[in-house]
Amino acid sequence: MSDCLFCKIAKGEIPSNKVYEDEVCYAFYDIDPQAPVHFLVIPKMHLASVAEVTADNAAVAGHMMAVISKVAKQMGMVSYRVVSNIGEQAGQSVPHLHFHVLGGRDMTWPPG
Ligand code: 5GP
Ligand code: ZN
Repeated sequence: MSDCLFCKIAKGEIPSNKVYEDEVCYAFYDIDPQAPVHFLVIPKMHLASVAEVTADNAAVAGHMMAVISKVAKQMGMVSYRVVSNIGEQAGQSVPHLHFHVLGGRDMTWPPG
């Protein structure tokens, strides 16, 4: 999607601090970190949110989970949180599917 911020980041048209990249997804540090470690994993294809994950594209979301697991291990993270906000009420501000990966501090539950 040409006017999508995260599509532009995935294509390298907007600079970001890369964590990981392959043919399916891209991971980069959040510009406004909410924990000592806070990166985002996004698909290279445009999906607006988890709400657009279907049986036809579920392999992309599954691959992103495997990447989160691999990268977190490489970073030495043993306890961390994976979050995806869907829609305005949940706090989604960028309408391109992304998983937040947060770690390095104590977390509380429930989230706000
Ligand atoms: P959401 O609010 O949609 O769940 O998460 C969007 C996230 O993207 C926020 O945590 C925000 O800080 C991050 N973000 C927004 N714009 C940029 C940007 O241009 N670069 C980076 N690295 N992160 C961004
Ligand atoms: Zn997009």
